[in-house]
Amino acid sequence: MYNSTRGNLLNQSASQAIAWGMVPGGGLFVPNVIPKIPWQQVQGISYPELVVKIMTPYLAEFASEVIEHIGLIYSQEIFDSDNPAPLVDMGGFGILELWHGPTAAFKDMALQILPYLLGSSLKNLNDNSEVIILVATSGDTGKAALEGFKNVKGISIVVFYPDGGVSPVQERQMTTTEGNNIHVVAVKGNFDDCQTAVKEVFASDYLKEKLAGRQMIFSSANSINWGRLLPQIVYYYWSYLQAILQGKIEPGAKLNIVVPTGNFGNILAAFYAKEMGLPVNRLICASNKNNVLTDFFKDGIYQSIRTFYLTMAPSMDILISSNFERFLYEMSDRDTDKIKSWFQELGNSGMFQVDQKTLERCQAEVFAGWADEYQVLATIKMGYEELDYVFDPHTAVAIKVYEDYSRLTGDKTYSVIASTANPFKFASSVLKAISNQIEASDEWEALEKLCLKTGWEIPRGLSNLRERPENRVLKCEPWEIKSMIEQIYNL
Ligand SMILES: *Cc1c(COP(=O)(O)O)cnc(C)c1O
Repeated sequence: MYNSTRGNLLNQSASQAIAWGMVPGGGLFVPNVIPKIPWQQVQGISYPELVVKIMTPYLAEFASEVIEHIGLIYSQEIFDSDNPAPLVDMGGFGILELWHGPTAAFKDMALQILPYLLGSSLKNLNDNSEVIILVATSGDTGKAALEGFKNVKGISIVVFYPDGGVSPVQERQMTTTEGNNIHVVAVKGNFDDCQTAVKEVFASDYLKEKLAGRQMIFSSANSINWGRLLPQIVYYYWSYLQAILQGKIEPGAKLNIVVPTGNFGNILAAFYAKEMGLPVNRLICASNKNNVLTDFFKDGIYQSIRTFYLTMAPSMDILISSNFERFLYEMSDRDTDKIKSWFQELGNSGMFQVDQKTLERCQAEVFAGWADEYQVLATIKMGYEELDYVFDPHTAVAIKVYEDYSRLTGDKTYSVIASTANPFKFASSVLKAISNQIEASDEWEALEKLCLKTGWEIPRGLSNLRERPENRVLKCEPWEIKSMIEQIYNL
């Protein structure tokens, strides 16, 4: 069963939590029991089998065939590798490549299965409503959600992205998706503006009633939806099993997990894996120049009113990290009164401060650091020259923070670094980092030159992007998001 982080809703089924996406009155769904699964119980099994083991206890009312089907989605036709999440050793640490899906970012690991999970949830609820998926994206979620939900019967999807705030490849990926049920909207604002406006739409009783009259409901494909987080727990177990198989750790030994963080979803999945019994020493939260989380872990003050930077790692350009609410819920011993008051303060004044005890628990669990733009470029260059590997800017942020962590603490624990995007998604930044001689006149030339320079293959989802016809993109201001939805659906 699932409860609200803010205490305003109790004991909802997984199906209901996934169908709603977020708690109607505000708050996020959290499991009321975190099941224990010792790693020994899942040793030697395949990825699809691991999916079943990890997800079953969280999906009580789902038929076993449904969960088995989810496991089989991680097949080679969809993920361009027989291993959907390979761990590549770099000596001392391992890179967990999470970008082998169709859109070349880790979001595919969850968004390829969310449509099926959502469809099954509605069936479990006997709900025949048509679903409108609303997505706010900093770049990668949008395309991964469009790819997952395009042409799915009974579901349509509207993606809001910050105009000028995503990479050219990300933008083109979104605008070239084919499908009869998709809408893409460029919002004149940043990601936080998009996310906040979309959350307000979810919380609007007025729109909900209008929709209900037409047998329609809203749902979310953002990581506020529990259905996004659950599939992400699986690959942290998978990384552990691979580290043992590769002889990098002794069976039962702990490892560190380093995650380049934006909305705190991916690292939260690692935290749940740890709570489930995976031997994890330290979680390392890496931010870019938008280092609101790094500051929080110093003094317990979450201050979202600050300069917003557009960086080379746009998927981390976020100041209001939604899933942090779920983390604080656990760190405060599930004190829903505290969570409610902190997040109301955040909404009203842009900041809050947690108590000393909660802060100490946070600090014991997570090491936080950040990398500036210069350090990102230098890290990509180092990776290319010394490790013969090509990091994308998001992964480079994580590598830099991992290096700081190792130097500062002297901790030699084997570390798994989540690599969240294929470098070709951010080709011009990567090219600039590894060579100051090669010039590319645009992003498409950068893709080809990066391929020539490194010998890495352009992922199939990006190879013919330039030639594909673009769909019409709608445009609006953040405060027009509500009316945009009314307009699209004739409400
Ligand atoms: C979404 C994204 C992130 C941030 O993940 P969160 O779950 O939002 O913390 C990091 N890197 C890339 C490439 C992403 O697409």
